[in-house]
Amino acid sequence: MRRAYNSVMKLPQISACPQCSAPFRSHRVCPSCGYYKGRQVVSVTALA
Ligand SMILES: [Zn+2]
Repeated sequence: MRRAYNSVMKLPQISACPQCSAPFRSHRVCPSCGYYKGRQVVSVTALA
């Protein structure tokens, strides 16, 4: 039963961030604005 190995071979899902429309991996925090599932979970101090 090596069926679980199939999930490892798949490429990571790339989605567009609803906040900054930057491509990011699904189920991950957007590296550009720090949003995840409609809420900011990472503080991005890029704004002046
Ligand atoms: Zn973003």
